[in-house]
Amino acid sequence: MEFCVQKFGGSSLTTDNLRHLVAQRIIEKIESGCAPVVVVSAMGRAGDKYATDSLIDLIHSVSKNPDPQNLDLLLSCGEVISAVILAETLNRLGCRARAMTGWQAGIVTDQSFGNARIISVDPEAVIEASSEKCVPVIAGFQGQSPSGKITTLGRGGSDITAVAIAAALECRIVEIYTDVDGVKTADPRLIPDAPTIAALTYNEVMELAHLGAKVVHPRAVEIAMEARIELKVLGTDQTGFGTTIAPGPGGKKGGAKISDRVVTGIAHLPRRAHVKISGLADFNQSEVTLQVFDLLARNQISIDLIYLSPQLIAFIIDDDKVKVVEQVLAGLGLNVTVDQGYAKVSVVGAGMHGVPGVMARVVRSLEQANVPIFQTTDSHANISCLIREKDLLAAVRALFAEFELAKEGM
Ligand code: ADP
Ligand code: MG
Repeated sequence: MEFCVQKFGGSSLTTDNLRHLVAQRIIEKIESGCAPVVVVSAMGRAGDKYATDSLIDLIHSVSKNPDPQNLDLLLSCGEVISAVILAETLNRLGCRARAMTGWQAGIVTDQSFGNARIISVDPEAVIEASSEKCVPVIAGFQGQSPSGKITTLGRGGSDITAVAIAAALECRIVEIYTDVDGVKTADPRLIPDAPTIAALTYNEVMELAHLGAKVVHPRAVEIAMEARIELKVLGTDQTGFGTTIAPGPGGKKGGAKISDRVVTGIAHLPRRAHVKISGLADFNQSEVTLQVFDLLARNQISIDLIYLSPQLIAFIIDDDKVKVVEQVLAGLGLNVTVDQGYAKVSVVGAGMHGVPGVMARVVRSLEQANVPIFQTTDSHANISCLIREKDLLAAVRALFAEFELAKEGM
């Protein structure tokens, strides 16, 4: 029988009613002649009892700076609880199911706590359960290092688990079920009527995901692309047709054809902080630049929108990293200022490469919406602007209108 990996996000598992909906999607799969392999995230979102954010709050109530190994061990519990509860829901409905931790499902990772990378998957236990007509329900987002330490894969990491398991099972399709009915032209939390995009290339989704559209984890898309696995992003309640991201012999459905549109979607990252380092005149500039970037890398701080000149080094960081960055740079004797309250907004589209005037349209539409731009950067498939976080909604609306992203039928 053919395996089909189905991944269910946390918001699809919060209540008993929702879990029944999830069970329905799994039972339908069995009825269609497939062997479902299920991957789950922790139940619910911030504020829900067993959600990842609640576990983080719990440990922070004891220690502001927990040991990374302890933190990962605690966070891995959220998905384990979710797997057990869904497996028991299936059992109650007469569909045999077995919950598994990530390590029971054979996921081996390196030892970068909080952001571990999968190094191998041995799906023996998954195959065994499935051959006993028992649906494997795997706790996503977690693994075990070769020396037996429990690790987590970073936020949104269950998507990675799902695709890695699928690759190990040589499975062709992964269905990612979530609280929206597919990948949309903008975050529906900001633009509620943004239409769903029927087909996207791996690169477009990766780009959107890297730039903040958290609907699929970029690393999951990368593994899917390498293993030629088709991804389907679907609503758990099965409204709409979802989004297909697939390899294939061209054509929109195949997803391999570069989109005809200049801009496919908008992504954004809130909570950015702008770091500016000046007073470089008294130093050897290349030496000090190297020192700064070296220190940041050693402390695992990712930086973005980097600007270098003889007078100034500037970049942006996640708001969460402000304290660490201030501490790390304090010893260098430089003039460092860190301003919070920024956001990055990006337009993405494989079709913008070589099309003149896209930047002009971005700048003009933001200016007309009274949104000041502090910095920009671009690549062959995106243009990003640093703006004030308070202007985010106005900026997304302006770009959404400028690039006609309300039109359906892509
Ligand atoms: P899950 O818990 O199912 O993994 P996520 O929160 O990771 O769900 O991803 C789904 C959310 O992604 C949606 O609720 C939506 O707000 C957000 N999102 C951001 N950008 C987009 C987009 N372009 N299309 C669809 N959803 C998006
Ligand atoms: Mg997610």
